[in-house]
Amino acid sequence: MKYNKKFSIGYPSFSKDPSIFYETLKNSSQQYRDEIFDVYFSDPYKYTFQGREYAYGDVMGAGLNQENIDYLIKIQNELNIPISITFNETYPNRELTDDPEVLHGFIKHLQKYYDLGVRSCTISHVHLMALGILQHKFPEMLWKNTVNHIITKPQQVVDYHLMGYDVINLDRSLNRDMDMLRAMQPLRKKYPKLILSLLVSESCMPDCPFKVEHDTMNKNVGWNYWDHHGNVSCKVWRHQEFNDLPRVGTEMVWGDKKTFDEYSDLVDYFKFSGRMQSLPNASSGKPQKFIWSNIAHIKGQNFLATYHDFDNVIKDEVNKWAFFDSFTDMMNTVGDTTVISNWRHIRYCDVNTKPDWKHVEWIDQQTVWRQKKGKALNIVLKTCKNECWDCHACEVAFGAPKIDSLIEINRDVRLLRGHSDHFNGLSDHLKGSESQG
Ligand code: SF4
Repeated sequence: MKYNKKFSIGYPSFSKDPSIFYETLKNSSQQYRDEIFDVYFSDPYKYTFQGREYAYGDVMGAGLNQENIDYLIKIQNELNIPISITFNETYPNRELTDDPEVLHGFIKHLQKYYDLGVRSCTISHVHLMALGILQHKFPEMLWKNTVNHIITKPQQVVDYHLMGYDVINLDRSLNRDMDMLRAMQPLRKKYPKLILSLLVSESCMPDCPFKVEHDTMNKNVGWNYWDHHGNVSCKVWRHQEFNDLPRVGTEMVWGDKKTFDEYSDLVDYFKFSGRMQSLPNASSGKPQKFIWSNIAHIKGQNFLATYHDFDNVIKDEVNKWAFFDSFTDMMNTVGDTTVISNWRHIRYCDVNTKPDWKHVEWIDQQTVWRQKKGKALNIVLKTCKNECWDCHACEVAFGAPKIDSLIEINRDVRLLRGHSDHFNGLSDHLKGSESQG
């Protein structure tokens, strides 16, 4: 079985070398490339309205320069992988639909990409979609809504689809609500053009109370959320000692092959976040290829850019690892009990290095997912709806203290692992006050 067009991936916007993503993709196996539904990116529309500067498009602050955009066009034209321009900001810029000059400026901005062959676009501005002018001007475009619309029910899917969205990005909360995904299946029969996508990687707090404000605060050009309000939201509870508990984010858990296939049957493709990543330059200086890889657990490995460069991992004699040239190769080779969600798509290594999976059994056995309690948790997570306050199954499986809300982690900074200077400072401050007290 092949898993073609199964993954939508973000363009790693903060890579130092603008050619690295394109070149590495070019060197990857054809099967790896066939598995990509599209590569999404953003180029915010900047305009002036009533004497002030605005931008519409990117909630993450991951816009690209022209050199990166040129490489993206090459990915579509030369490698036949669709690229998808993303306007996912949920701030309701009223002038986008109200002011003819601003609206026509946006159409011109999008026209540039349409003329270059882009046929896929995320539009968060619902009133703009309802106008119908975009569908009229760009008749071949595949329209996506944004995952930030928080679509959780079949009726919402129908409402957005009939407004003109071909792809419905479902809310990540459905990663923990398979019953609701099943309830959506009749829609796929009734609306044959409907495409369902599920966001499977995002290290955000489930149903985060800060989300609406975070998503709409980045309006001020040149102002960065993470230097300001981010210091009292996710920076406080993220990357702490128990960061690996599924309840700490909305990351999908596929504890085995059967679980992956179950979810895969319920949606058309899976979306990985990744635009905020920076791919490091290859340590070997040789041509690289993307691989699907698994490393015996290293705390914080997702946050260390160096682990993208898999040649580093291969050289390291301490860590055990495994990799394949494609997801399909991995699924068709490893045993049924392999922990699928531990495999990563974005690491790369020397093109001449041969796939190797001799340690995969050992690696899996080091994880909680191969123990009885992990297997039980894998089942609970399919339908738990992240009602953690009354469940605590994650804490029990991982041997962590029970907490009712991630917000509580604010209150005991001694648990923080200290990934940022902010916390080191905060921890030192607390230690100081404890010794004084
Ligand atoms: S509801 Fe339970 S199983 Fe689900 S994420 Fe929360 S603690 Fe884990």
